[in-house]
Amino acid sequence: MLTRRHFLGASLATTAAYAAGSFVPAWAQNAPNLGTPTLPAVGFRRMKVGDVEVISLLDGVARRPLGEEFVKNAPLSEVRALLASQNLPTEYIDIPFTPFLVVAGNRRILMDTGLGEFGGPTTGKLLEQLRAAGFQPADIDTVLITHYHGDHIGGLRNKAGEYVFAKAKVMVPAPEHAFWMDDAKMAAAPEGMKGAFNNVRRVFAQMPNDMLVKFEPGTELAPGIRSVAAFGHTPGHTLFDLKSANQNFVYVGDLTNVPALFARNPDWAVTFDMDAEAARKVRRETFQRIVAGNAMVGGFHFPFPAMGRMAVSGTGYAFEPVNASA
Ligand SMILES: [Zn+2]
Repeated sequence: MLTRRHFLGASLATTAAYAAGSFVPAWAQNAPNLGTPTLPAVGFRRMKVGDVEVISLLDGVARRPLGEEFVKNAPLSEVRALLASQNLPTEYIDIPFTPFLVVAGNRRILMDTGLGEFGGPTTGKLLEQLRAAGFQPADIDTVLITHYHGDHIGGLRNKAGEYVFAKAKVMVPAPEHAFWMDDAKMAAAPEGMKGAFNNVRRVFAQMPNDMLVKFEPGTELAPGIRSVAAFGHTPGHTLFDLKSANQNFVYVGDLTNVPALFARNPDWAVTFDMDAEAARKVRRETFQRIVAGNAMVGGFHFPFPAMGRMAVSGTGYAFEPVNASA
């Protein structure tokens, strides 16, 4: 078992392992035999929510071969049929990664960070998009984190060990932090999850106390931005609900993976949901609330521009992207 002390002592020696991407799940790399995902020429889009501007920033896309394991509780033939009915490829899944920037008065609030320097060649574009949209990493005053999977926290700290958003408070759900930083949970985890635990330690173990802010889901994190517990995908997975001048935008993080499958069929469980039943329930409740309130929605794994609205479709929901400009 790795103790905290042992881990910190080993952290410099394992830099080469990080560089090789061994702490990023294999699915976040690209599948070379299936071709390369195409990225849009301009990977950011702006949308108004009341008096606030929300900007989606495409960190990239990873291509994953579609196998039996991807949807845990549906036969592959049904999964392929649903993709085909939407004119989507059936041999692979393209999974986008999309952090969001909220520009509210003098506040610059980033939601999730993408893979940083730790993913495949068609990922890690967040800083490029941020600059193209007119912002620098030092402009970010707050980073809000939904959960601790590598595609959401990887960009907080680079290979050189620097905190990329050096002037930002990093606000994290307390239950998520407690779970992943628990050495006993790491020791008890299956071998395939150890990389995710190690990555959390890489990012957070040495983060200064005046940078890291743990919050209880349900609390307000910035003017008009409330955190909402949505546990299931991970033990502390949390959404961010933004209200401005009678308009509402909900950033749903990983409430679903690609909506073409898991919004259309909210009862399907993606392989990454740690508690599939809790995830299923909160997915249904949240989409129902979003549609009832006619809220705008942003999703980390939604197709670019990754923001729009949800509409009832059959026994599930369809994502309708906005026609947003850069
Ligand atoms: Zn994710």
